[in-house]
Amino acid sequence: MRQPVHYAAIVIGSGQAGGPLAADLAAAGWKTALVERDRLGGTCVNVGCTPTKTLVASARVAYLVRRAADYGVSTGRVAVDMVRVRKRKRDIVRSFGGVTPDRGAKKAHLHVLYGEARFTGPKTIEVSMFGGGVRRLTADSIFINTGARPSRPALRGLADVEALDSTSIMELDSVPDHLLVLGGGYIGVEFGQMFRRFGSRVSIVQRADALLAREDPDVADAVVSILREDGVEVLLGAEARSVAPRGKGRIHLSVRQKGRSRRLAGTHLLVATGRQPNTDRLNLGAAGIATDEKGHVVVDERLETRVPGVYALGDVKGGPAFTHVSYDDYRIIRTNLLEGGSSTTKGRLVPYTVYMDPELGRVGLSEAEARERGLEVRIAKLGMDSVARALERDEPRGFIKIIVDRATDQILGCAVLGIEGGEIMSMIQIAMMGRVPSTVLREAIFAHPALAESLNNVFHRFQDQLPRRQDFA
Ligand SMILES: Cc1cc2nc3c(=O)[nH]c(=O)nc-3n(C[C@H](O)[C@H](O)[C@H](O)COP(=O)(O)OP(=O)(O)OC[C@H]3O[C@@H](n4cnc5c(N)ncnc54)[C@H](O)[C@@H]3O)c2cc1C
Repeated sequence: MRQPVHYAAIVIGSGQAGGPLAADLAAAGWKTALVERDRLGGTCVNVGCTPTKTLVASARVAYLVRRAADYGVSTGRVAVDMVRVRKRKRDIVRSFGGVTPDRGAKKAHLHVLYGEARFTGPKTIEVSMFGGGVRRLTADSIFINTGARPSRPALRGLADVEALDSTSIMELDSVPDHLLVLGGGYIGVEFGQMFRRFGSRVSIVQRADALLAREDPDVADAVVSILREDGVEVLLGAEARSVAPRGKGRIHLSVRQKGRSRRLAGTHLLVATGRQPNTDRLNLGAAGIATDEKGHVVVDERLETRVPGVYALGDVKGGPAFTHVSYDDYRIIRTNLLEGGSSTTKGRLVPYTVYMDPELGRVGLSEAEARERGLEVRIAKLGMDSVARALERDEPRGFIKIIVDRATDQILGCAVLGIEGGEIMSMIQIAMMGRVPSTVLREAIFAHPALAESLNNVFHRFQDQLPRRQDFA
């Protein structure tokens, strides 16, 4: 076997943090190895955000065309060609992918190795190369950015059926007749609604009594209502017991709901019950790197593991699993190691959007979280059916809910379930970042009839206060 090659830095995984970090380290003159076992760019670009949002856009077109008559427009029969939908998705993924590590990097300092890395000691790894052979590397600093993958629940019979996961479902070349979705988190909700709009019959089976476990009950209930209105069957409090193939490409899913057994017969099964960190094959024990009970790498608020000089970034370290979190992890490391700063994960504001339609944008505390913390809050809530722009666009579903600290008038968080909910949420997020009191937003001039205008009206709708003047929307 060859002698180990020494690097200043090894980055394992080219996810949302690893790619830009490797590029920056190399540009700063650190001799850097970036190891990737699959496609450059990681989950988000290849099998996560980018392809799903591309498909959501196609599904929304199908939905709007079916609703064309609502706008006074006549169309013919709506047909969805999944081969073309998939091609559009593949083209966009291809156009986004593979560019990350070269960005701005001094290539002389950056070596990209295609293969799977595993630790052999605290600062040593070996890489099983795609082309065969094993390389041994050592480094002063190692950055783990290996992400996560769909997990498989221990469901009786699952090995006997061709179950789909979030990756394989996006490669279908035809619309399933009846898609069974196991799991009512954001991935199950996005795919469930999407395939309903493509033309499938869809049943979402959720063990908990609500979809989207993290949300306030009024938000989660409204999500269920929207999905049901779209024709998605949503089974809450329904525990999957077993699954089995049944002739002619059918799948039977047995569930127990409210003490009663029920059997669903579908043509396809999507398993969307969560994701597990890619740590099981890293041999972290050899390096003395600790993991929690779910296998996430344990880090401190500067993202360092218990082994000095070894860091973990993105989904692999647990916590909110979003692209922008992983990217912010990269910024923290860059600030601390390349810019002499002192940045941490402490208190960072993490927004997210569920890309159902209408979107659910969320930032800060939910009402339940605020009350659990014993905060004195006021809740402002405005239906999208009171927002002029939403009515003009005939998309009045959902509401804006904002949680405000009673003593300081500061916004603590919001849920925006409505058209462009993610964008409206981001405006509120910016107000939170600037510590803008709710009264300032209430009295601000926004262009009429932008969706932003709802920020005037929502703060006339505190639940403990009558409107101060007639809303004009
Ligand atoms: C269907 C779906 C939709 C999503 N939609 C959104 C969304 O809309 N918005 C959002 O913010 N987030 C979304 N996410 C989550 C988001 O994709 C992830 O949070 C994000 O990609 C995490 O990035 P990461 O940097 O942690 O690692 P990843 O992007 O997962 O990258 C890890 C990389 O490490 C590589 N790797 C793993 N092990 C090894 C090894 N031993 N050796 C070498 N390489 C290795 C992998 O091949 C992979 O390329 C979605 C996820 C899914 C699955």
